[in-house]
Amino acid sequence: MSDTSGGDMAPLRIPTRDAELVRGMRIRRALPNRGKRLIGAWCFLDHVGPVDVSEGDGLTVGPHPHTGLQTFTWMIEGEILHRDSLGYEQLIRPGQVNLMTAGRGIAHSETSPAQRPSHMHVAQLWIALPDAMRNMDPAFEHYPDLPRMQHGGLNLTLLAGDLLSERSPVRVHSPLLGVDISAPAAARTELRLRPEFEYGVLVLQGEMQVAGETLAPGTLLDLGRGRDHLPLAAAAPARCLLLGGAPFGEEVLLWWNFVGRTREEIASYTADWQAGRRFGTVPGGMQPLAAPAVPDGLRASA
Ligand code: MN
Repeated sequence: MSDTSGGDMAPLRIPTRDAELVRGMRIRRALPNRGKRLIGAWCFLDHVGPVDVSEGDGLTVGPHPHTGLQTFTWMIEGEILHRDSLGYEQLIRPGQVNLMTAGRGIAHSETSPAQRPSHMHVAQLWIALPDAMRNMDPAFEHYPDLPRMQHGGLNLTLLAGDLLSERSPVRVHSPLLGVDISAPAAARTELRLRPEFEYGVLVLQGEMQVAGETLAPGTLLDLGRGRDHLPLAAAAPARCLLLGGAPFGEEVLLWWNFVGRTREEIASYTADWQAGRRFGTVPGGMQPLAAPAVPDGLRASA
């Protein structure tokens, strides 16, 4: 069954790719993907967990650089400690967002705190910065409370953009939408969409019917653009992430933790990181991650 709901394409199911976030921690990477590189300016989406982090050190991502993007962390379960080269140290808890604007360059580490809940469940996203903003000063913001709404039996948390007369305080730089949609029990409703936006949905827990497609974790549903509403249903508790945005309209080049436009830029970011320039120092004494070699043929694509 398929429902185009006025969109420019039938919903397209795109399998996430398995990746390893840290040694032994398997995650699902939904963006970028061979079938879909961007949803608006959302250019990267890792679905992590739920995973047991009670043994050993848990999550240990050492200092690493970013450019040209905002990292957006949506915490569903568990805790992560963020430290960055601007000097911010911030524990993020369930229901909260960390937004780190890399601009021309920042470095950070992400670790499990010593005392922590046993499980971690998180969506880690990147937002590409438009060309006019991508060399801005780096910044970090923590959002402990986001707008919450109830709609047709669903609990909505507005992560980015506008929905149902609410506006997210999260500071983004292009027209975007991010909504955590949670069904505490069976529910069926519709959400209004903007036809000029493109959209995608990733189920984070349980099973949901989205635009007539039954979805579970491990599949990104690409909804394209041109839709004015989105049918949603669940028969039992479930959770999904709705992402949308105006088509980004710029070719971007993602390599390692960098977003740029050309191979030469990426090579200069890599050289600066390896030489200890541009990105500053992350407090905490962890070993910085080494940047991989930049391939000769690295090219941007839309
Ligand atoms: Mn990072």
